[in-house]
Amino acid sequence: MLLFGPSGNSEIFYQQGHKSSLEMPPWLRAMNLGAYEYSCTRGVRLGPETAKKLGSIAVENNIKLSVHAPYFINFASIDPEMIKKSETYILDTVAAAEHLQADRVIVHVGSPSKADREEAYNRAYKNLYEMVEKLKVIGSKVRICPETMGKKNQIGSLDEVLQLCLIDDSLIPTIDFGHLHAVNNGSLQKKDDFKRIFECILNKLGDKRGKLLHMHYSRIEYTEKGGEKKHWTFDDRQFGPDFEFLAECLVEYKIQGTVIAETAGTMAEDAVKLMSIYNKIKEHRLFTLENI
Ligand SMILES: [Zn+2]
Repeated sequence: MLLFGPSGNSEIFYQQGHKSSLEMPPWLRAMNLGAYEYSCTRGVRLGPETAKKLGSIAVENNIKLSVHAPYFINFASIDPEMIKKSETYILDTVAAAEHLQADRVIVHVGSPSKADREEAYNRAYKNLYEMVEKLKVIGSKVRICPETMGKKNQIGSLDEVLQLCLIDDSLIPTIDFGHLHAVNNGSLQKKDDFKRIFECILNKLGDKRGKLLHMHYSRIEYTEKGGEKKHWTFDDRQFGPDFEFLAECLVEYKIQGTVIAETAGTMAEDAVKLMSIYNKIKEHRLFTLENI
């Protein structure tokens, strides 16, 4: 089954008078959504008690949680202090995920900054490898999900992320379609552009793991020089990528896992829109197949 949900809390959630993320799972359930990405991007500030509470409310409402790790992580750094800090950020996020009963932690692997990209990638690979080994020693079942990135000066092209996922079977790629579109100067235009991505994933990771994807979607503004500039809402149709072709691929390749809307302020409402496009295509396909 494919689950849809928001990253963080929509503006309308607060406008309706809600104050705490603890109110999110029933709110999302009422919208028929099935996933919620809890954001620790500015640091892990969630205490164990609140995390446990949110986790059990999510389970009661049948909402699957994932956690986005802090943006400060940089496994590509040459600075050993930075690597140590990055490990602590991951360990803190993994601990929070365990309290939340979430099994996925989404990670931006790092940036080469001014260093050579290949060397930076190799450092990121080595440090992520060691991180995964440490998580195994702890006995954590949480799956690290390295993300495809939108800025040119970040480690996280599709190839890099898939290669990193070969470190260990527990790793799942986070495919951010807005990011891939932005970093490649608006590359996602036709259905074939999306198909190529799924072919790549399934070829590299195999059918079983390849279909358990974690995905992010938003419309995105970018510059030719730097890539990602700004996330927009689903209704800002002047910005790509469009979701329709992606939804067709999700149906045709029978992708499971999670689609998280990362649009600007309207994440939950947009997740509902994505889910209804996907469901319509799926129903239409079933109807067509039955009537051949
Ligand atoms: Zn991210």
